[in-house]
Amino acid sequence: MTDLTKLTAVEIAGLVAGGETSAVEVTRAHLDRIAAVEGRVHAFLHVDTEGALAAARAVDERRAAGEELGPLAGVPVAVKDVLTTKGVPTTVGSKILEGWRPPYDATIVQRLRAAGTVMLGKTNMDEFAMGSSTEYSAYGPSHNPWDLDRIPGGSGGGSAAAIAAYEAPLAIGSDTGGSIRQPGAVTGTVGAKPTYGGTSRYGLVAFSSSLDTPGPCARTVLDAALLHAAIGGHDPRDSTSIPQPMPDVVAAARLGATGDLTGVKLGIVSEFVGEGAEPGVMAAFHESVDALTKLGAEIVEVSCPHFKYALPAYYLIAPSECSSNLARYDGVRFGLRVGDDGNRSLEEVMSLTREAGFGPEVKRRIMLGTYALSSGYYDAYYGQAQKVRTLITRDFTAAFEQVDALISPTTPFVAFPIGARTADPYQMYLADLFTIPTNLYGGPGISVPCGLSEGLPVGLQVMAPTMADDRMYRVAAALESAVGTFTPPAL
Ligand code: GLN
Repeated sequence: MTDLTKLTAVEIAGLVAGGETSAVEVTRAHLDRIAAVEGRVHAFLHVDTEGALAAARAVDERRAAGEELGPLAGVPVAVKDVLTTKGVPTTVGSKILEGWRPPYDATIVQRLRAAGTVMLGKTNMDEFAMGSSTEYSAYGPSHNPWDLDRIPGGSGGGSAAAIAAYEAPLAIGSDTGGSIRQPGAVTGTVGAKPTYGGTSRYGLVAFSSSLDTPGPCARTVLDAALLHAAIGGHDPRDSTSIPQPMPDVVAAARLGATGDLTGVKLGIVSEFVGEGAEPGVMAAFHESVDALTKLGAEIVEVSCPHFKYALPAYYLIAPSECSSNLARYDGVRFGLRVGDDGNRSLEEVMSLTREAGFGPEVKRRIMLGTYALSSGYYDAYYGQAQKVRTLITRDFTAAFEQVDALISPTTPFVAFPIGARTADPYQMYLADLFTIPTNLYGGPGISVPCGLSEGLPVGLQVMAPTMADDRMYRVAAALESAVGTFTPPAL
């Protein structure tokens, strides 16, 4: 019998729609796989066995009643623990929300349910999505299925590890500075950050509101596109949601899969080649550039002179927004409350709660952000960073006058050993050197597996203009048709 966990979402949906298997069988196969490997991978913070089986049964009943099912009906999906799920624990990887069961579903979760997907559970992440390795999760790190002693990326390492370990064919992530793309790159999976405002933030626990973008993780580009189409599009409940129809990313992925990029012009960001990337990563990248040329793409070098300031600008803007967003965790309204013994003042309880509930990286960001926003330093830090953001956006705009899309390695290095970068925060921040500019600009970016370096996966990033998400899917699918997909050693 086919191993249902090894199939793509497209294949699973086809079998369910054709009655060759049931959504319940598919779900049980994935729950069994989770039971078999979770002890080693730790991709999930919560597995919703009952909820998943109930959702699967509902799909099977709809099919039995003759209802036409959508393209992802019956397909299991793992959801990053940053999205609210009604009645299902949502912790954001933090002790401060331990035990919280939200009273409502995020828009994306609602759309996943409406599409007939089956939510298996909530995946591990760096606390409040701050990090690049899941080591800052308050619940312990996830492990990379390619090498269990290495990180699966972050902050959405749990989602990427779950799909790489065949615990789920699809997952949802969120990308503020690279948290979908970098985990995709280091686990040999596909991760896409949609255009900012192209996917709803309603019910996404806020980290940095002007950057946070939920999006799809999958093992193939087409699966990612189908998931993107299912969750994307305007949401009146999110004030920054774009009130326009989204581009047809599924058609673009299918077009790309034909392997023809004739007439497509791609720009290599000069500032990113040779800037701090490992030789093995650069070698895989250059081989992929050759492959893209063979598919008919024209490749040129494009200079984006301000990209080198993206990392410092991001580490002022994101902490500033976080210091404001995280002020709501006051020990009164949500989750944890410490020291409320009737003798302490509100301020004391608040401070004890925040001391116990937040981990060191979150505290570091709150302090950085509070400082950058303080009246004496606002112009020098936050104001300056916003100006840099404008310059980076101008670099993108100028680049897209010359080329259809930009390409780069997704991340400067392959999956590093657990513990290797926690001592120095800056070493951790470097993981997002190539992904952060896209977030500051607001455009879409995708990471697609492009090769191996020392036996570990390397990702290629495609960046496109805002609301041209279809372009990146076309290029990514074309590259995938040339280099194939990458399977980790059996667990
Ligand atoms: N690693 C980056 C950070 O720590 C990006 C995180 C993200 O995209 N959520 O902020």
